[in-house]
Amino acid sequence: MLATELILALLAAGMAGATAYLIRWASEARTPLTASTVVFLLLMMVAMVGGAAVYYAHPSSASLVEGFWVASAVMSVSVVQVFLGFLEEVRQRSRRDPAAAPPVLAHVRGFAASVILLVLANELLMGWTFQAAAGAPIAGGFSGLGSFSNGLAAIVSSPWFLYTMSAEMLLTAFFLRHRLPRAVLFVLVCQALIMFLSPPALPVQSWADGSVYLASGLMIALFVFLMEYLYRTPLVPNAFARYIVRFLWVYALMMAGLYFWLVNASSVAFALSVVAEMALFFELVVRPERIDPSDRMAWQSRPHWTFQLLAGIFVSELFMGALLDARLYGAVFTSALPALPLAGGAGTVAYHAFYNGFWFVALTTASTWFLAMMGLEMGTLVAFKFRETRSRETKVRLGLMMGCYAAFAVFFPSLYYSIVFPQLASGASVPVLGWSMGIGSAPLAIGAFGVVLTSYAITGAASFLFGRRAICSTFCTAPLMFQGTAIDSMKSFNRSSPLARKYLSSRFSRAYTATTAAVMTSLVLASVASYLDQTGRLRLTVLGADPTVFLFSFYFSVLWYVLFVTIPYAGNYNCVTMGWCYTGTISQAFGRLGFFRLKVYDRDVCRRCTTVDCAKSCPVGLVDMPGHFRQTGEFRSSKCCGVGDCVEACPYGNMYFYDVRHWLRAGLGIGERPRPNLLPMARSAVGGDRRSESVPSGRGASPPSFPSSP
Ligand code: SF4
Ligand code: SF4
Repeated sequence: MLATELILALLAAGMAGATAYLIRWASEARTPLTASTVVFLLLMMVAMVGGAAVYYAHPSSASLVEGFWVASAVMSVSVVQVFLGFLEEVRQRSRRDPAAAPPVLAHVRGFAASVILLVLANELLMGWTFQAAAGAPIAGGFSGLGSFSNGLAAIVSSPWFLYTMSAEMLLTAFFLRHRLPRAVLFVLVCQALIMFLSPPALPVQSWADGSVYLASGLMIALFVFLMEYLYRTPLVPNAFARYIVRFLWVYALMMAGLYFWLVNASSVAFALSVVAEMALFFELVVRPERIDPSDRMAWQSRPHWTFQLLAGIFVSELFMGALLDARLYGAVFTSALPALPLAGGAGTVAYHAFYNGFWFVALTTASTWFLAMMGLEMGTLVAFKFRETRSRETKVRLGLMMGCYAAFAVFFPSLYYSIVFPQLASGASVPVLGWSMGIGSAPLAIGAFGVVLTSYAITGAASFLFGRRAICSTFCTAPLMFQGTAIDSMKSFNRSSPLARKYLSSRFSRAYTATTAAVMTSLVLASVASYLDQTGRLRLTVLGADPTVFLFSFYFSVLWYVLFVTIPYAGNYNCVTMGWCYTGTISQAFGRLGFFRLKVYDRDVCRRCTTVDCAKSCPVGLVDMPGHFRQTGEFRSSKCCGVGDCVEACPYGNMYFYDVRHWLRAGLGIGERPRPNLLPMARSAVGGDRRSESVPSGRGASPPSFPSSP
């Protein structure tokens, strides 16, 4: 048996090499004769494997003859194809001047579609035949939709299909390495490797375990690469942009498919995603010239495209997180997910579907692996931003923010808690341990009052002393997701989206006031109901949960992600700009009374500033800050969460944060921080040299350098 498998593996390797070479040839074939030759050779391969498939369907001497006839028939047809291509070429040549350009292929799309279909047919036939030849034939017929999809799933999930396909993809990328941009090549290679790491390929536990983790890690690396690529490439080739969103949706289906494969033992969705990925991949490589560097789009001005990008990544990660949780925790995770039957009247079915879907999203996004994965991905983007940041204060904050995420979103509620209290329920439901800060992590009983009040006392004190940034750009999990390089650059939508514009500037617009009022009212009502429930005076649940637990899940485990993927419409940092986070609103109230504000060293510099980079760079859309600087030399807004992009963006280094530390310094007579020397433009503003008035602006502009002494 080992010898048979070795021979089959060698045959599969040969087929993969030949197919990859033919695809490379197809990518260069632009005359009727060369295109027909490629199709002819692919048909020959289909004929050979098809003949073998006929034999292995019912191995006998009769079926051997039938297989031979089938192969011969297909080969004969393939010869006709070449003949037609030859005739077309002769016809075109006879009409042209012999010195003119060679004949051209009229139906490039049709040719590309034929190549993809033949490669797919070849792989499917090979998967089925090699599986049978290896002594493990795929059971069941192909009659009826159900058995067809199960049969397809079994073939696609076989190692003969997956490994051969992955080798073909890798070799094709290698053959075309000089014709594809490096970013595209990187994505294609990652796709091939992820295909290789398909958990259903081998029915071996260690492979299933190892491949799930490796494939997830590779996929996260791929998403990070894409986000960073977008950050550094504001103008993306159109064809590649289309490819990115399509393959993200294919990966979303693939992750969902792997989750169903693990939990329901069904690989139909996974198989469909593999076929879709393969078609997408070969569609790109057969016509690589479509990635035309001169045909580009500014992705930051394409909200629908950016929405698809974020949604594709989110859905992929949602199922990836659920897959990892299910793999690691088994029934402990899956049995917590409600599975109400989708039966009964239309209303019941709709309610049950909503109920199941809501809790699947809420429980998965609050789970260890999802948060760890998001932290790894978004945290890497923040680390990239950290590298570019010049302001020491912002660097410290970014470091604290990453540390807080690791500690309060992952380590304390999951790892620490399960190690210290293995016998108790999930640590995510313990107030203060996680970032939920009390209300909502558990029902509001008298016993929880002390912890909740302590949480809010700490929140209030930190916000009073250091501003809202202590919570909204350090402690909370949200800022890690908002502030990585690519996501941060989506703040441009705060000014371009009609919805986000309603929440622009530091004023409390009507929309902002209405949103905040609704959120705070819902918090008060849910807290009262939860308390009355706990004291036995009411029996109220929402979607089967305590009202505050539901509210917390709704706002932070469902709505938060909905608004995250809709950044292109709702703007970046929309929990702050729209005011729909009750924790942020509470922190804001304390911050309003406290020390925190933004100050400038010299008002005259702002008066002469024409670029107002501080306002443009604000991720919360506080576009009115330059006006305040010019009038009073400071800006105080309870919406400001101290991200520091403005301090970083001011080309004159004219801004700084003011908080309790400055107040203490002044009170203790230690003295203010040294004021930097002024730039030439700034000097001119106060009556000095007027020769240099050019203003550096935008990302990448060289920062002005100040001498170290005041
Ligand atoms: S507003 Fe709320 S969700 Fe947003 S960063 Fe602040 S605490 Fe976090
Ligand atoms: S960019 Fe700098 S100089 Fe210009 S308005 Fe803002 S703080 Fe003032």
